[in-house]
Amino acid sequence: MQIKNNTAVSIHYTLTNEADEVIDSSIESGEPLAYLHGTGSIISGLEAALHGRNTGDKFKAYIPASDAYGQVFEDRIQVISREMFDGIDNIEVGMQFHADVSEGPGIVTVVAVDGDSITIDGNHPLAGMPLNFDIEVVDVREATAEEIEHGHIHGAGGHHH
Ligand code: ZN
Repeated sequence: MQIKNNTAVSIHYTLTNEADEVIDSSIESGEPLAYLHGTGSIISGLEAALHGRNTGDKFKAYIPASDAYGQVFEDRIQVISREMFDGIDNIEVGMQFHADVSEGPGIVTVVAVDGDSITIDGNHPLAGMPLNFDIEVVDVREATAEEIEHGHIHGAGGHHH
């Protein structure tokens, strides 16, 4: 079946960066990614690359940062005082915290530790990076009326409620 808006799509994917390092892969977890096509629930460049594909298709997609996680905003990188991390003894590079940043609730990543000065980055970890996807379309089916109403799919790989 062909992928069009309001189809429930299952894909296996391997995501690599420009250095050809694997960032994420559905193969390792064994579960394909399942999503409702046409709702913007996956990054726009990947959704566009999948549009019109069929069950069983295998292809590579190169997604520029602008169609993936967007650009890096310098003002989301801030140096704050260690005191802000109340109750956390060991602050280390790579730690992630939920925080209320100017754009609303988000994840910040510790990118540098210099004495009592902690540099945090509120950009998405993949912001500013073009992404390479290896895709296999595992399954395509019509979404149910309920799934379309909810804006997500149910069952395997989807919401259970
Ligand atoms: Zn639902």
